[in-house]
Amino acid sequence: MSVTILQGQKYIMNTYSRFPLSLIKGEGVYVYDETGKKYLDMCAGIAVNALGYGHKGLSEALKKQVDELLHISNLYYTPQQVEAARLLVENSPFAKAFFCNSGAEANEAALKLAKKFGKTKSATCNKVVTMEHSFHGRTYGALGATGQMKYQKSFTPMLPGYSYAQYNDFNSLKALVDEDTCAVLLEVIQGEGGIIPGQKEYLQAVEALCKEKNILFMIDEVQTGMGRTGKLFAFENFAIQPDVVTLAKGLGGGVPIGAMLCNEKADVFEPADHASTFGGNPLATTAAAVVLKELLETPLLKQVKKVGNYLEACLKELQREFSCIKEVRGMGLMQGIELTIPVKEVVTLCMEKGMLVVGSGLNVVRFVPPLIISKAEVDEAIDILKKVLSKVN
Ligand SMILES: *Cc1c(COP(=O)(O)O)cnc(C)c1O
Repeated sequence: MSVTILQGQKYIMNTYSRFPLSLIKGEGVYVYDETGKKYLDMCAGIAVNALGYGHKGLSEALKKQVDELLHISNLYYTPQQVEAARLLVENSPFAKAFFCNSGAEANEAALKLAKKFGKTKSATCNKVVTMEHSFHGRTYGALGATGQMKYQKSFTPMLPGYSYAQYNDFNSLKALVDEDTCAVLLEVIQGEGGIIPGQKEYLQAVEALCKEKNILFMIDEVQTGMGRTGKLFAFENFAIQPDVVTLAKGLGGGVPIGAMLCNEKADVFEPADHASTFGGNPLATTAAAVVLKELLETPLLKQVKKVGNYLEACLKELQREFSCIKEVRGMGLMQGIELTIPVKEVVTLCMEKGMLVVGSGLNVVRFVPPLIISKAEVDEAIDILKKVLSKVN
């Protein structure tokens, strides 16, 4: 094993079950390990590297920004943060943006916003309903919102005020909502939970309920947002309009950044209510503005839709060939195959054959490649998957 891997095992805290693989370079949709072996990257830093590796526009903008100004406090304005906020607001139903550094933090911001919104209604209106099998991050508030016992069990008690409805089951949600509910938070496609798409009628019913009861409808678009499904925001596929969304993962194309967007009704934060030292700094927001312009001003979103549909069709065809594929689920370039065989084995074999994929939920292999992936590269992925499944099926 390489020095990097051995020293990594020695010095890095054991919070991930890492593969013994050390990556040093990327180009397009490929990454290279220390030995020079090439991998087709269908993981993309877990739905992060939207523009792939070595994107000229992104790297040039970042280099220029590094020379000019890396960081300055949110006590002041910067053109980069204003530009990222403007692009997000002008291309969405939202009125304001708040920047932070990760998905969990974006959700923390949304949860605090929800509590403050609740206070404007009544002193006891502070409960948030989220979903079973959801994932909202590892910080304490976001972990409480995450409806998966496996992530919570070592850290109980959780913060109070959360309850979990069955996803895609409107009555289950309705039974949990009362006058003390300030918000409903959900993903329109559950990502870590196993690529489980929400049903349109369900999501529309949730929106209507929130409107009727004056509850904030909040959507976690940390994984589904930023073009992943072929729309800037995944909620656009369901003809719904939330009050709040959270973003991260793809937003910075690899540079750490998160954001929360809200409409006028939910715009209740005042100075000192919430803050982040690094949030939206000029380097991170430079990256976000480049990614947003690629999505908004080039045919990239159309391509995501087209190539995403193609990936889905190819996976469905594989399903006919391999009985170990129980179901193909997803939207755009966020696809999953539910398997009847161990996912870990498939992920490991894919790696051996030169492709990175990532598990999701209990038994799902997830495909969340860079948004720039081509049909030919999807063919390559399907070829590798075919070889792997022929071995284990
Ligand atoms: C990844 C993810 C998060 C957490 O984001 P971090 O940047 O790891 O904190 C939250 N919500 C969803 C839907 C995610 O996929």
